[in-house]
Amino acid sequence: MEMTEQALCGQCSVCGRVTELLELPGRTDKFCLACSADLATVILLGTEIDAATVAGRSTDALVCEFEEVSTRMLGRDGQGCPVPLRNFVLENEKSGS
Ligand SMILES: [Zn+2]
Repeated sequence: MEMTEQALCGQCSVCGRVTELLELPGRTDKFCLACSADLATVILLGTEIDAATVAGRSTDALVCEFEEVSTRMLGRDGQGCPVPLRNFVLENEKSGS
């Protein structure tokens, strides 16, 4: 097995699949294409849920969508998610502010 630098290939931090990976800006974790897209959505939804909460608006629809995307990510590999998605979002918010 060759050990050449192959930064874009490895194990996804979310679903654990070994595949082509993307790096998200500001994160050291790497994610596969599908997880990157879903994670970006989850982070965005987390931000929107916060904003709606602060503004006193209903978050039901946003939370529903959040759960939907989360469930899709958790179920992708059939093995569950090694890292709780809510922690990802919380971490992101902490480091972002
Ligand atoms: Zn993945």
